[in-house]
Amino acid sequence: MNKTIIVSKFGGTSMGDLKSMERSASICVERKSSVVVVSATSGTTDMLSQIAKLASSENIEQCEKLVLSIKERHQNLMSQVSKNNEAIDVLNNCFTELDLLVHNISLLKEITPKAHDHILSLGERISSVIFKEVLKNKLPNKKIILLDARTIIKTDSHFGKATPLISEIALACEKLNPDFVYVTQGFIGADVDGNTTVLGRGGSDYSAALFAEGLNADVLEIWTDVAGIATTDPRLCSNTKIIHEISYAEAGEMAQYGAKILHPSTIAPAVRKSIPVFVGSTFDKDLPGTWIKNDVEKKPAVRAITKRSLQTLLTITNPDMLNAYGFMGEIFSMFGKHRISVDCITTSEISIAVTVDHITLNNQKFMKDLESVGKIDVEDNYSLISLIGNNLFSQKSLAKKIFSSLEESPIRMMSLGASPYNFNILVKEEDSKSCVQKLHKSLIESEE
Ligand code: ASP
Ligand code: MG
Repeated sequence: MNKTIIVSKFGGTSMGDLKSMERSASICVERKSSVVVVSATSGTTDMLSQIAKLASSENIEQCEKLVLSIKERHQNLMSQVSKNNEAIDVLNNCFTELDLLVHNISLLKEITPKAHDHILSLGERISSVIFKEVLKNKLPNKKIILLDARTIIKTDSHFGKATPLISEIALACEKLNPDFVYVTQGFIGADVDGNTTVLGRGGSDYSAALFAEGLNADVLEIWTDVAGIATTDPRLCSNTKIIHEISYAEAGEMAQYGAKILHPSTIAPAVRKSIPVFVGSTFDKDLPGTWIKNDVEKKPAVRAITKRSLQTLLTITNPDMLNAYGFMGEIFSMFGKHRISVDCITTSEISIAVTVDHITLNNQKFMKDLESVGKIDVEDNYSLISLIGNNLFSQKSLAKKIFSSLEESPIRMMSLGASPYNFNILVKEEDSKSCVQKLHKSLIESEE
């Protein structure tokens, strides 16, 4: 199999309407994509989630309105691209499934995580059948196959955010024929019992990376609505620039610490197989975009700044731990048990402070478990700012620049030391935007 394999993923806005779909399909033709992974059309996943909620409450009227608007939007798209009965049947079967799910949920007045994943999966299943027809119109002589991602992306049964089973995915990929073009769904998979699962919100990037890994692809392309990864979120700062080349390590840290452009798990599969990742805009396909790869030419001290909002600081204190051991082990086992990731951490002899997403506080079982280890102080309304760069341990005047830029804003916590690629600073939410601007000015703009 010597053919160059390109996996191309298109996000919701690149699927938003007929024009966007056609633009995306032209890119597939130009790049000779082998596997095309698509998101649901923009806004549809949110709507499906809302439908599930409304169906389980008494608000059936509002629920049916939303169902109708999803049906009309997609029927309208399909009618503009194809008269293929097979495709129309697939679309209608999805709608029947949606009606059935809504009916069952409203009957039980309860939405289980399993049913929620199933209902969300319809977004990608609907958009992919339409997109396949759009691509078929552009490549009439090619064999184009609508591939059900659930036959490839095998996962565990952790509904809502399932973990993929890498070796099973590789095995399933063996049955794909490199001479065909496949159009498939991002975000969705299936567990060993065949139940539909999802990889977590924004998970289509991750799906595409898993396909690329399973197929040993040559390139993974993530097509979105911005022209690549910027030095910081352009909504926070007006002087951002697109980064043309960035290492896996830096891009991974960026995704983890709040850059919205990539799902945080996307980089790992690419790293495992050294697959270069391209991020570009469907709306400006000829711009250089961003390449994420192993070796990069330029390694600036600070490449980018991310901000992760809605952070809560939990300080867990247990005076019995003075000169004792095992405290951290106990705490982390609670995080592990509840699958909660720790982003930033500092410790003292009898206490440990960690940042978590604010939403973690809703997990009462976790909070209760944590209380069994020590007294918990909760401080809310923080933002975690991460400086992402290279050799951060050996940058001479970095600390001076950081502290003088942040003169006016108290720093609640900071951490450097676990990786040479990132330096985390926790500040009050209300100060965070201006902190990003000042840091961007002194650490990135001034270095250009
Ligand atoms: N459609 C899913 C979502 O909106 C997955 C994705 O678009 O990446 O979260
Ligand atoms: Mg996305």
